[in-house]
Amino acid sequence: MSSVPPAQPAERTAHGRVWLITGASSGFGQAITEAAVTAGDTVVAAARRPEALDALAAAHPDRVIPVALDVTDPARISAVVAEVLLWYGRIDVLVNNAGRGLIGAVEESTDRELRDLMELHFFGPAALTRAVLPQMRHQGSGAVVQMSSMGGRFSFPGVGAYSATKFALEGLSEALAQEVAPFGIKVLVVEPGAFRTGFAGGGALQQSAAIPAYEETVGPVRSGLPGSDGKQPGDPAKAAAAILTALDAEHTPLRLVLGNDAVDGILGHLDAARAQALAWESIGRGTDFED
Ligand code: NDP
Repeated sequence: MSSVPPAQPAERTAHGRVWLITGASSGFGQAITEAAVTAGDTVVAAARRPEALDALAAAHPDRVIPVALDVTDPARISAVVAEVLLWYGRIDVLVNNAGRGLIGAVEESTDRELRDLMELHFFGPAALTRAVLPQMRHQGSGAVVQMSSMGGRFSFPGVGAYSATKFALEGLSEALAQEVAPFGIKVLVVEPGAFRTGFAGGGALQQSAAIPAYEETVGPVRSGLPGSDGKQPGDPAKAAAAILTALDAEHTPLRLVLGNDAVDGILGHLDAARAQALAWESIGRGTDFED
């Protein structure tokens, strides 16, 4: 076990497991919050505007505790995790869910846009994960859920920047899962397709300034993604239920693919990647030293 001292005595009573969920004010974050509470657990629901969670908190007194957290603020991450540990003495499930879309060709995406999205999808979740691990190692249990995307497994025109941030999160998480398994801690990377959340809505989705030369490749995504708003096939409540099922399984998978579009896309990508690796296998195997 780690040498981390136990957290201070709990100041609040936890019902069931204690969850810390980022971006809990909308979409997947809200759906996972509702599913966890329904399962009898307690959720510290983190949001940039915690007042957006007032109704949910009022409906579940002592079960949904809204806190203010912008996941791109490292000082605030430390303060929130310390506060939750003071309240309950533990965090059982961290859900790194906060995120947003960005559409743009690689040439169209600015350095600022890339760095901002990396802060949101990679450095924030990495900091939160680091912050909860000492206590999880000490308690000998816990789970970290990383909301990635089918775009975290493969990419296509217009979503290179978004995919880069999710690929980064997935790489970190694949290693993390193996590092923390001996401490009884699970890591679950979730890869949804198109789900009916606020994601594709005008307020959340960002677009890089367009270069006309990319109209043919990126244009369809620029109009198609916002056009899908409210019509996506995926149901966030069913996604939340699937996440809880995977977490509660004896053998929790590292990756959970959600939605028919994501299952089709990822299986197709895996087949194509394997076929390409095999087609170039002999060339690759011929590059070692003879000794
Ligand atoms: P929503 O827009 O409905 O929810 C996103 C949430 O993230 C909001 O609560 C938003 O808060 C929050 N958020 C954004 N930026 C920050 C920040 N800096 N700090 C804290 N919270 C922030 O979309 P989804 O529920 O769909 O998105 C959740 C996750 O799911 C994301 O990581 C996304 O990449 C992923 N995903 C979504 C898919 C989909 O089709 N819906 C597909 C694949 C992956 P605020 O209201 O303050 O903006």
